[in-house]
Amino acid sequence: MRNTAIAKVFSDIADLLELKGENQFKIRAYQKVVRAIEHYPKEIRIMIDEGEDLKNIPGVGDAIAKKTTELVTTGKLEYYEKLKAEFPKGITNLLDIPGIGPKTASKLCSELGITSADSLEQAIKDGSVATLFRLGEKTANNILQQVEASRRKDQRISIGEALPIVEEILSALNSVPGVRNLTYAGSLRRFRETLGDIDLMGTVDNPQKVMDAFVSLPIVGQVLVQGPTKSSAIVSGGLQVDLRLVEHEAFGSLLQYFTGSKQHNISLRERGRRQGLKLSEYGITDIATDKLEKFADEENFYHRLGMQYIPPELREDQGEVEKAERGAIPRLVEVSDIKGDLHMHTDWSDGHSSIKEMALAAKKLGYQYIAITEHSGGRGIAHGLDVERLRKQIEEIKKVNEYIDGIQVFSGIEVDIRADGTLDLPHEILAKLNVVIAAVHSAMNQSKGKMTQRVLSAVEDPDVDIIAHPTCRLLGKREPIAIDLEAVFRTAAKNNKIMEINAMPDRLDLNDIHASRARELGVKLAIETDAHDVSHLDFMRFGVGMARRAWCEPQHIVNTLSLADVLTLLNVSR
Ligand SMILES: [Zn+2]
Ligand SMILES: [Zn+2]
Repeated sequence: MRNTAIAKVFSDIADLLELKGENQFKIRAYQKVVRAIEHYPKEIRIMIDEGEDLKNIPGVGDAIAKKTTELVTTGKLEYYEKLKAEFPKGITNLLDIPGIGPKTASKLCSELGITSADSLEQAIKDGSVATLFRLGEKTANNILQQVEASRRKDQRISIGEALPIVEEILSALNSVPGVRNLTYAGSLRRFRETLGDIDLMGTVDNPQKVMDAFVSLPIVGQVLVQGPTKSSAIVSGGLQVDLRLVEHEAFGSLLQYFTGSKQHNISLRERGRRQGLKLSEYGITDIATDKLEKFADEENFYHRLGMQYIPPELREDQGEVEKAERGAIPRLVEVSDIKGDLHMHTDWSDGHSSIKEMALAAKKLGYQYIAITEHSGGRGIAHGLDVERLRKQIEEIKKVNEYIDGIQVFSGIEVDIRADGTLDLPHEILAKLNVVIAAVHSAMNQSKGKMTQRVLSAVEDPDVDIIAHPTCRLLGKREPIAIDLEAVFRTAAKNNKIMEINAMPDRLDLNDIHASRARELGVKLAIETDAHDVSHLDFMRFGVGMARRAWCEPQHIVNTLSLADVLTLLNVSR
């Protein structure tokens, strides 16, 4: 339970007490605690973990400390539950919406029977709220906006949406003089596929200037907190961004602390305790002498604990601490290892750029090869290629290869795996191509058994090299298909077939967990952008992030191979 969630419970209590007509003194005491907890720099659950006295938090006395401990350790507060039971069910849902106070909430509940953001939205839209309160349309619309904003807040944002926003903020703040080490921490730095809040941190010569610059960025909407060392704001898209500024000497331990994960940090603390060391965001304290050692960089923090540096993507408490102690953390794949991209579309089907433009853009990235893999015609959409047009494209690719030096363009296809498991194009044409990718694009509701057989028949087809986006999920939009990936991976390993890590930010498919299992089973992986435009070639880093979370080294990823080696591999897989 994070501090914001704890503060929320006390804020509800204050509101309910106000509704009840309790004395103002008591109400104000709760409101004070809410602000103190929201702004407190340390997470309370960690204070409790470490046995720290909660009364160190301003405004927290015995009674609140006891309630807080009950709430954090059991996830429930009896006093709060009893208080809530005195009011119509759902009233606290309305109190969650900024701009709705206890009186309004009570009236909405009792007179209109509104108990949720959804029913409130409905009532605003049909005009009954405006009539009830004589609010007028404008105020009602303001409330409506708040309803929408609070709904967005509950949603996690995908890394593909978040990273560009964060990079925009960082690049704006980096232009303020005196800024050093500005970076992101938290789940974004660990490269989780979806994120809650964003944690930024850095060291600066003039914190005030940077904080002022931060809250006045055009992208920043509501400012929640503005202080000398910590500010929080909601940026466009509903994302909450916290910015912390610290002294240069302690930056490494702070970055380590706020990168998490929580479980990883708990494992590290246990390891420290065995060595007589106490770990915190301020540094490492020798318990015997009570001397605090500060760390300006993160690597030395890990080295002080007698272990290898652990890349952020591995910090999920999946055995990485123990491996780092043994010096067994592998050298993970990096974007600079990538030598080609084997899945992309052009203006021959539903892409925007020409073959030549794609080749030149890829050459600029330092690639040695790309494969052009349009959709096949059977899908009936997106100008898929039939045998005739595919023949023409093979000729066109030959011309492009004569025209451009320094990069090889492979002919290829992203052939549809039909509902019955057969491929959408005949063997005669598939055999002429350098790369054949097979993928499911239709009849996605098949039973697990049927779907697995369907994909397995493609894996076993001698014409196929790669299976693209194996689960077909679209983050936040489409659930993965039902499929026995374990069976698919085992068959792929046996037949020397490649599984794709699709790097499109809303696909990330295979994800980290699946890619890790495939790697364990000896399946070859390819990180591919599925680019439909030259700008999409930059998606490679999202796929590399997934591969790193899956503990992949360059040797596990086929498109780290040189041109000669990848050609050999593609011929071997047929
Ligand atoms: Zn596809
Ligand atoms: Zn594609």
